[in-house]
Amino acid sequence: MKKYIEVEEARELILGDLERPLSAEKVDLLAALGRIICEDVEADRDLPPADNSAMDGYGLRAVDTESASPEQPLRLPVVADIPAGKPWPGRVAAEEAVRIMTGAPIPPGVDAVIRREFVEELDGLIILKEPVEPGNDIRRAGEDIKAGAVVVAAGTRISPAAIGMLAAVGMPYVAVVRRPRVAVLATGDEIVDFNQVPGPGAIRNSNSFSLAALVLQAGALPQIFPITRDQPELIRRALLDAVSGSDLVLTSGGVSMGDYDFIQDVIRDLPAAEIRFWQVRMKPGKPLLYSRVSATPVIGLPGNPVSTMVSFEQFVRPLLKKMAGYPESELLLKKELATVLADLPATGERRHYARGIAERDQTGKLTVKLTGAQGSGILNSMVKGNCLIIQPPVAAGAHKDSIVEIEWLDY
Ligand code: AMP
Ligand code: MG
Repeated sequence: MKKYIEVEEARELILGDLERPLSAEKVDLLAALGRIICEDVEADRDLPPADNSAMDGYGLRAVDTESASPEQPLRLPVVADIPAGKPWPGRVAAEEAVRIMTGAPIPPGVDAVIRREFVEELDGLIILKEPVEPGNDIRRAGEDIKAGAVVVAAGTRISPAAIGMLAAVGMPYVAVVRRPRVAVLATGDEIVDFNQVPGPGAIRNSNSFSLAALVLQAGALPQIFPITRDQPELIRRALLDAVSGSDLVLTSGGVSMGDYDFIQDVIRDLPAAEIRFWQVRMKPGKPLLYSRVSATPVIGLPGNPVSTMVSFEQFVRPLLKKMAGYPESELLLKKELATVLADLPATGERRHYARGIAERDQTGKLTVKLTGAQGSGILNSMVKGNCLIIQPPVAAGAHKDSIVEIEWLDY
């Protein structure tokens, strides 16, 4: 077991243990939104399937219109009406035109379309006052996608546009990486359910809910377990239960140095368990425990409500994304530089993730200020904050107007 390591090393250990994303599952097309697709999808046909009109107007032969001018308007008979979806079986001869709607297939003989608003139609004739270029307002077969081309590549995160494209190539189901199932387990003798009136010394369980919400937001499936009391045997049973049906187990509380912090002892004694590290050089969030039980990652998050959430952002969100098949480049929170609006206090021996409110003004300048008090129990700092301000360890503190690095918490 490693002890008291840097955030980056901790994250590398956690991510490095996961060899590959979770398995694939077939889902309805719409349910694939935001998921990572596991297969290349090819177009079954050209898109559009045939040359068609880009406008409501008239199809004709461009060469016939070369002499058209306001002084010598050209008159062409309209020989057919072609709505979208109804290919016309005929052929357009020289000095003829067809009325054609947007999306309707271009009939043989036609090599240009002129928009309705540029001509007059009178007694079955159109009157043209200017020449039309060959190819004008015609969309070519396959100009969007050629038959056989990969329209959505394996590993892509499915966007609304990709959903549309998959529909266009006739995919009612797609294979995507399945969602991680995440057990969320709060521990503590003082913790009561959120629908209880806490007695003396008790507090309501907020961690299970902030964590389950973060899990949901990360695209995974949370399962909230009953609150477990600070007794090794109860913790042992709850952990084994949680491990058996989950891809990841998150506990909160009971991983610090206290007399009733039993998570580490319990995991150490489980069969097929390995504790990989304990404690990270960060504030909040030092007492984090990472272990594997029968190859399932079990992450013991600190009990303080802010520590739990900040630790989730640094370690759990990237792991869930990796499980769900996201590429390496998309695992971490987005970073940016911002100007601090007020002095920041000096830091101690740990990197500090202060909660900040970042704002961009009309000129694009990004500023950030603290949310207020920064204790690891001040959940309100996470409610108000939209970013974490990263303060290096043993730093003198940042002066007003200096540049700091932030990590965005809004996704
Ligand atoms: P612990 O790490 O178990 O000593 O907990 C640290 C602090 O976090 C204590 O003040 C706990 O009361 C608080 N805490 C632990 N679990 C929860 C929870 N599920 N919801 C809210 N606060 C919690
Ligand atoms: Mg506790």
